[in-house]
This record gives sequence, structure tokens and C-alpha cells, in this order.
Amino acid sequence: MRIDPQKCVACGNCVAVCPMGAISIDTAKNRAVVQSDECVECYTCYRGMSMETLNPTLIRTIRRLLKAFRLRFDPEPDVCPTSAITPDELTWPRVVRRAFSDPVVTHESTGVHGRGTEEVKTNDVTRRIGIGEVGYVVEFGRPTVGVRFRDIEKMTQALAATGIEFEAKNPVTHLMSNKATGKLRDDILNEKILSAIVEFKTRIDNVPVVLRRVEDVARTLETVVAVGVSTRCSENGESALDTLLADEGFAFARGKTNLGLGRAIAKS
Ligand code: SF4
Ligand code: SF4
Repeated sequence: MRIDPQKCVACGNCVAVCPMGAISIDTAKNRAVVQSDECVECYTCYRGMSMETLNPTLIRTIRRLLKAFRLRFDPEPDVCPTSAITPDELTWPRVVRRAFSDPVVTHESTGVHGRGTEEVKTNDVTRRIGIGEVGYVVEFGRPTVGVRFRDIEKMTQALAATGIEFEAKNPVTHLMSNKATGKLRDDILNEKILSAIVEFKTRIDNVPVVLRRVEDVARTLETVVAVGVSTRCSENGESALDTLLADEGFAFARGKTNLGLGRAIAKS
């Protein structure tokens, strides 16, 4: 994203809107500027603000005049009064920033919006996670923090070494140059995104090894990591996963139980 210095009147409205803190006011130039390396191309500023078309010269003159009387002209907080926020033409590899950060953009490789697939939320239909298996989602980054692919790669490589199976339809899997080792494409490693989800599955016995590996690697990363595990419940709603996690000393909360009301399309 770019801010047109010819149009910007330095009202500061867009500064608070950016979830990455990538926009600031350059007080020497009296214009807003985007720190390009921190911008994740989420389009929140461009799409989230109302773009008005007031004359920049007129607005600057009014602001200067009012300032002389210790008054201010402030547009409504969700407005860029001069339509100064301008999307750049994104090319590879920068375009992956938008694919993972703008929820209305469909990921070209998978047809999935944003960061991951439906995970196991539709497992009653997809049967992606079979009986005795556990599905994992490892989530990286949050607004204000973000994540670079080089940190995601540290995790995927460490996890690959435990013999896991990455979900083929996941957008991060698609960016791997080697799915067996978890190596990501070299040209995206420095790209920063709002967040990403890595998905994979193992047999239930592997849960302790995998979770300890996630815990160890997460401590070395310059971002935040959240992990979810899921499995099939018995008819009574019980699962072996609960006991296993408790025995291994992992604090957990059962976040969601899907009742399996969908129509199954595959048997396993
Ligand atoms: S909202 Fe528009 S005019 Fe105001 S600082 Fe941002 S880019 Fe400049
Ligand atoms: S596109 Fe997103 S990250 Fe970039 S400047 Fe706008 S709000 Fe901030």
C-alpha cells in the first residue's frame, strides 16, 4: 500500500486503522507514510476507510488557518478525506502478503480465502481425520505482530522431522518446495503476513512428540503461536485425546464439538 504525498493532508486517520502499525506521520514532510516492509497488504486502510475526494490544497489551507487559532479540522475518524491511500500493483513474491492477510482475497493455489482451509470443521463430510488420527492447526501471527515465512519455515521443518503429513490443500503446504522436509520456497521467506495456519495430521500416539516440538520451536520465533488439536469423539462425546493431553500435562480447553450433521461423502 502507498500513500500519495500529493493528496495526503496528514490528518492521521489511517494511522489508527492499520493493524500492523505500518502507517505513521512523517512530521518533517507532514504526510502519512507506509513502512513498506511492515505492511502486510491487508487492505484494511484502503477498503475499511471511506474515501472522500476533498481538494488536498484546500484542506491543507484550512488546517493551517485553524491551527493559527489553535483549532483543528478533523475529518470523521473512518474517512480519508482526499483518497490518498493507493494500492500498489502487487507482483510475486509480495503478492503472497495479500493472499494471507486480506480475508476477501482467494488464495490462487487452493481457492481458499485467506490463511487456511476449513480444517476439521467439516470432518463429518470430508473424513479428513480418520479414526485414531489427530488433526492439528498451528497458527502463527496476530494483528500487530504478524509473521514472516522464515519463522513459519522453522516450524514446518522441525515438524517434518517428526514424520507428519502436511495437509495438501493448505496454502502454506502449497508454498513448500519440499513437502517431505517442510522447506518453503526461498523467494517468500522474507515476506511478512498477518497470520498463517499450518495443517497436518498424525496418529494419536504422536501427539506428545508433536506438541513438545511445537512448544520448543515457538519459543525461538519472533511471533506468537497457537495450536489446536482435534479428533473424532465417541458416541458419548468422549475422546482419547482428552486423557492423553491431561496425562502429558498440556493445558487445554475443548473449544468446539461438531455434531456430524453433514452428509458423509467418503468412508474411512
Ligand atoms: S487518512 Fe488519508 S489524508 Fe489522512 S493521513 Fe491517512 S492518507 Fe493522509
Ligand atoms: S494494507 Fe494493511 S498493513 Fe498495509 S498499510 Fe494498509 S492497513 Fe497497514
